[in-house]
Amino acid sequence: MASDNCIFCKIVRGEAPVAKVYEDEHTLALMDIFPVTDGHTLVITREHAENLFEASSEALQAVAATAKRVAHALKDTLHPDGLMVFQLNGAAAGQTVFHYHMHLMPRAEGEPLALHTRVPGDPQRLATLAKALAEHVSR
Ligand code: 5GP
Ligand code: ZN
Repeated sequence: MASDNCIFCKIVRGEAPVAKVYEDEHTLALMDIFPVTDGHTLVITREHAENLFEASSEALQAVAATAKRVAHALKDTLHPDGLMVFQLNGAAAGQTVFHYHMHLMPRAEGEPLALHTRVPGDPQRLATLAKALAEHVSR
């Protein structure tokens, strides 16, 4: 069920701006607006489920499949040293948006580890990345 005040539901409904990379029946992939690293991408479910415990198995499987597609696109486009994939459940685990999503974060060798930043990404860069990644995402 959709949630009126949820920012990711607004994105799913097309009511909030988004640098979109990919979408299918169950998922959307988009650039994180506060990217910790260049290329930081989120895969979100279309359904509103707060976390891993509430999301349907069908949606979770679809997120995994989309994450793999986007991971390949990130690898082919940005050639990072590594790719960190993570997903947070509950405020105590660091979750800040309570609509299920997975993070894909390209990482450079030796870079300090961080899960969040408050520095917004350059909108132009996010749009450019979304376009480049979209062209590399396999169907
Ligand atoms: P969490 O902490 O819940 O695992 O991650 C939420 C992520 O969503 C954060 O990395 C944050 O930067 C990102 N985020 C928050 N609001 C928006 C938004 O309106 N659009 C996009 N694209 N990302 C958002
Ligand atoms: Zn939602």
